[in-house]
Amino acid sequence: MPVAGEPRIRAGAATDVGLVRVANEDNYVITASVFAVADGMGGHAAGDVASGLAVAGLAQLGTEGTVRPDDVRRHIVRLNGDILAAAARNPEQAGMGTTVTGLCLVDFAGSPHWVVFNVGDSRVYRYAEKDVPGVRVLEQLTVDHSEVGELVAAGKLSPAEAAVDPRRNVVTRALGSPAAPEPDLFVYPLTAGERFLICSDGLTGELDDAAIAGLLDREEDPRDAAATLVRAAVAAGGRDNVTTVVVDHVAADPGAGDTPADDETAPRQVG
Ligand code: CA
Repeated sequence: MPVAGEPRIRAGAATDVGLVRVANEDNYVITASVFAVADGMGGHAAGDVASGLAVAGLAQLGTEGTVRPDDVRRHIVRLNGDILAAAARNPEQAGMGTTVTGLCLVDFAGSPHWVVFNVGDSRVYRYAEKDVPGVRVLEQLTVDHSEVGELVAAGKLSPAEAAVDPRRNVVTRALGSPAAPEPDLFVYPLTAGERFLICSDGLTGELDDAAIAGLLDREEDPRDAAATLVRAAVAAGGRDNVTTVVVDHVAADPGAGDTPADDETAPRQVG
């Protein structure tokens, strides 16, 4: 039974190997309270192992009662150790790593909030009204942990320059690192009507923000939005694996019944 005051969440996901890579080393997860994408790296399909460990570990968050922002941080640091330990047991997985980014519903100051977390250069965007009522805008919430991402954050490179810079694929933080990476954590209040996009760089390498916003605007169902974005990135070149998770915080609809949030939540595979 849904609890009064619990946010109504709907989510959808899609992933595709793309047109160039031989394997899909991206993974994603959707639970009632955790939504994440991980983009693995490493030879001999080890990237898929690392990103799989990351999302499987994140799915455990929220299964043991109330989660607070610090629990998310500790959990991510622990996952780094799990990936290192797996690599130590399997020599062919030595050096494997993964990005991980997403959203988690947490308790903050006594009420539900979002925690946006990030390690690496996958991204979380928010698509929602901001300053002008009725006008939704796309905003990147995470800061890329990449050489060019840090230069953009420091104002030394424009986003347009970063998009074509040869250093754009050099990730400065990843899970699977000998020194545990510091995850970025951002806490946000819940706002009905907001939509989040979590994606690997295979999406943002092919589509600019305007194209992404246009597709998020067009597709009402989050499953359709996730699938349409992936299809568009593959059609634009598909030079990398592409993965999307779209999360809608649905506005309360009095009298619309009390469908539990996760009843309508179903991942969708494309291709
Ligand atoms: Ca990638």
